[in-house]
Amino acid sequence: MSAVASHAFLGDVDRMFDRAAATLQLPPGLAEKIRTCNAIIQIKFGVELRGGYRVFTGWRAVHSDHRLPAKGGIRFAAIAGQSEVEALAALMTYKCAIAGVPFGGSKGALCIRPKDFTEDEIEHITRRYAEELIKHGFINPSLNVPAPDMGTGEREMAWIADTYRKLFPSDINAAACVTGKPVTQGGIHGRTEATGRGIQYGLREFFRHPDDVRRARLDGDLGGKRMIVQGLGNVGQYAAQFLSEEDDVRVTAVIERDGAIISESGLNIEAVTNYKRQTGGVKGFPDARFVEQGATVMEMDCDILLPAAMEGVITRANASRIRAPIIAEAANGPLTFEADEILLAKGTVIIPDAFLNAGGVTVSYFEWIKNISHIRFGRMERRYEESRGKALVDALELGIGKPVPESIRKQLVQGADEITLVRSGLDDAMREAYQSIHEIISTRPAVKDFRTAAYVLAIERIAQCYQSMSL
Ligand code: NAD
Repeated sequence: MSAVASHAFLGDVDRMFDRAAATLQLPPGLAEKIRTCNAIIQIKFGVELRGGYRVFTGWRAVHSDHRLPAKGGIRFAAIAGQSEVEALAALMTYKCAIAGVPFGGSKGALCIRPKDFTEDEIEHITRRYAEELIKHGFINPSLNVPAPDMGTGEREMAWIADTYRKLFPSDINAAACVTGKPVTQGGIHGRTEATGRGIQYGLREFFRHPDDVRRARLDGDLGGKRMIVQGLGNVGQYAAQFLSEEDDVRVTAVIERDGAIISESGLNIEAVTNYKRQTGGVKGFPDARFVEQGATVMEMDCDILLPAAMEGVITRANASRIRAPIIAEAANGPLTFEADEILLAKGTVIIPDAFLNAGGVTVSYFEWIKNISHIRFGRMERRYEESRGKALVDALELGIGKPVPESIRKQLVQGADEITLVRSGLDDAMREAYQSIHEIISTRPAVKDFRTAAYVLAIERIAQCYQSMSL
């Protein structure tokens, strides 16, 4: 993203915030306090590489610390900038408030094209970046906890955790300094796919509200709906896979960097993902039509458009040509403010990023709790639940005089393991958040769209928090 575009991104997030704040009666200056980024650090650090030295530039912003720790991913991207990091940190503040995650908002970025470096070099650079942030208090289990974002994953998070542990070996909560770690390093089952899973749960909840579905001039449930996905990375891949395999959504097109593939009968997402992993793109995927100008495929007919790649892909230039009645914002900031206004005027239903992609931070919250409580979820109660279930089945069989069918027996005697509890907690968070947004949009005439409703929810929750503390 260029410096100008990244500046526009921050301006767009602020305008979306202002549109929502204008519907509220807040004490003078409070909206500005909530909207303003609290702190940002820019670091330039040297790394010994290939017989010489290279200087790298990175940022980490704390948009809000009304609750601690502040939370937000770290992205590795060739083009990153301060203002983009501020915009993403602001979205994190609102996202946490909407999802009921008791954290402030933060975000980090490092200017780097990962594929230009070997794995060993990336490890060295990541550890140096982490050292700098730790030194300045921008990574800390109580104050600021990163997670993966574009270009980073559990590998980088494991290196960050290890760097922190080496610097503070006596900190018993060291593992909680970062989330999205591998399960073997204090991570939690279900974190890798959590954002995609949350999108699935969020869309399911939307379709449980027929009056909201009618706003998009659609009816029925998710099954059979046609979806176009942009970006088959961590977020897009899991969202598309779960929705197609478990909810019968038909993914009619996938847009990637090298172009788009189209199949009206539906694409097998697992197969496309494997193909992309092997070839680096989607071009040549069998039994699908390839279109080189991938972005134009967003304008094709479908029920749900799922932009899951990056910010600013729907702008004033293409918004009026988008035909999807529902845009499900899987990426952060895929619509500019102008595009948002054009689409709202057309009657498009936009399910906003700050709600829909909150699954990642929600499960990160569970991971952080697991780390500070030093016990995996389900460890104490799982076998107890199983023996209670077995006793129940035995009593039932005694009463009815015949065996309970195997499928029912299995369900009743199973104690919840970590992944089951994570999914249950995530489902609950997405449903509750949606229901709160639904309540606002259905009862306040000044609130006409889901993004404004979601922002209103966030602003009210954060305002309450500030009003109960002394600033
Ligand atoms: P990623 O790097 O894993 O995947 C991005 C995918 O988009 C890649 O497959 C890439 O090739 C593709 N892509 C990039 N530019 C494209 C373009 N112009 N057209 C089509 N495809 C393009 O990143 P991710 O972690 O999946 O993040 C994607 C978005 O979701 C970002 O906006 C990120 O901030 C947001 N997000 C991520 C998480 C998370 O847990 N990873 C959580 C919340 C939000």
